[in-house]
Amino acid sequence: MKPAVTSPTPDPALFDAVVNLCKRRGFVFPSAEIYGGIRSTYDYGPLGALMLRNVRDAWWRSMVQERDDVVPIDAAVLTNPKVWEASGHLAAFTDPLVDCRNCKERWRADQIGDSCPKCGSKDLTEARPFNLMFKTFVGPVEDSAAAAYLRPETAQGMFVNFLNVLQTTRKRPPFGIAQTGRAFRNEITPGNFVFRTREFEMMEMEYFVPPAEAASWFEYWCTERLDWYERYGVPKEMLRLRQHEESELSHYSAGTADVEFLYPWGWGELEGIANRTDFDLRSHSEHSGTKLEYFDQTSGEHYMPYVIEPAAGLTRTMMAMLLAAYDTDVVAGEDRTVLRLHPRIAPYSVAVLPLSKKETLTPLAKKILRTLQRRFVCDYDETQAIGRRYRRQDEIGTPLCVTVDFDSLEDGAVTVRDRDSTEQVRVPIGQLPGTIAERLEAELDR
Ligand code: ATP
Repeated sequence: MKPAVTSPTPDPALFDAVVNLCKRRGFVFPSAEIYGGIRSTYDYGPLGALMLRNVRDAWWRSMVQERDDVVPIDAAVLTNPKVWEASGHLAAFTDPLVDCRNCKERWRADQIGDSCPKCGSKDLTEARPFNLMFKTFVGPVEDSAAAAYLRPETAQGMFVNFLNVLQTTRKRPPFGIAQTGRAFRNEITPGNFVFRTREFEMMEMEYFVPPAEAASWFEYWCTERLDWYERYGVPKEMLRLRQHEESELSHYSAGTADVEFLYPWGWGELEGIANRTDFDLRSHSEHSGTKLEYFDQTSGEHYMPYVIEPAAGLTRTMMAMLLAAYDTDVVAGEDRTVLRLHPRIAPYSVAVLPLSKKETLTPLAKKILRTLQRRFVCDYDETQAIGRRYRRQDEIGTPLCVTVDFDSLEDGAVTVRDRDSTEQVRVPIGQLPGTIAERLEAELDR
């Protein structure tokens, strides 16, 4: 937990523009808005749900699919509370909480100076530790024996299944276990839109290595993870890697670096990469009585691997990608807003747009849509003038538009329009899926 480092060029206007676009176009809605919402809780709308899925898939592709040393799991949100005792979360997953005696607002002591940011009063309570885990009860009886916690991270699911995965996959260190899923933290100061919320989604991987190799694998994963954001369209100048000071390190960490992003309010965390040593496996071994070790048959040695953990926030990454992609320019004398999202991240890959709603065009346009839908996530829009529809697609980041016009009925070709350059080319309908795949894939090999 650390305060963000202030950037020289924060851009609050960008933040407002993106938050506004998210609501207006259906990326993110305040949760239960018809009931007045609930503080800092959000629902993801049609475009947000598509985009979250794409970010998750992009992570999965590079962390699981494109590797032969990482396997996935999908662990339970509610688990045995002893997990949180062993992990140290029950005792140490706390933030220092202070109350302003004047305006009654609550703050994280490490995020404010000696006065209340709301009313300026210096009459603050002593800081006291506040556990961030949400507590609940399993079954009908609300007593301490039934207490359980919503997971504040997905990582522990990987540690407690270490032996199960070893035995069922025959992997050997160095190897990783990955999962994505919801996590819950009773944050004292949620805010900045979906940057910090009490319910969010994480993308985590625990990479188990021989202890002597931990330092070099830590370096490896720092580079790998920084590159991933660039590969999916976040410009280099909006990213940096920041090593933690000794005093910032968590109780389990022998080294941590954050991938930081230049948010509109300054540099802040996007992902944490930590050398967790053998803290977790050792602690779970002690608490459970089951030795979480690896037996190296070649050396005949039992040892407890060290763990390198890249831990990213899905919802926070989506926000960073939206902020990085937001742009405005002028096309044919008209202002436009364009989300320059990576084609694999954009909610829709293709929009099929019949030039007019006339019945003569609909059957062909729908036929093209059905063909493309088998391979790509498509939008279909036949309302309003074509120029406005292009703007609408630009604003949600759709990389390619396919326009079906009256000539299409004669020449069997359609117009493919590029979001960034706005260039249009005529493509025979038969070649359309191949052409679109090539254009989208080309981005991956940049
Ligand atoms: P912070 O210092 O911002 O509280 P942290 O260091 O506690 O974060 P980690 O435990 O390293 O965060 O979590 C890994 C990632 O999960 C973070 O880099 C972030 O992307 C995401 N994350 C953590 N807490 C939240 C939250 N409350 N809302 C949204 N995303 C979060």
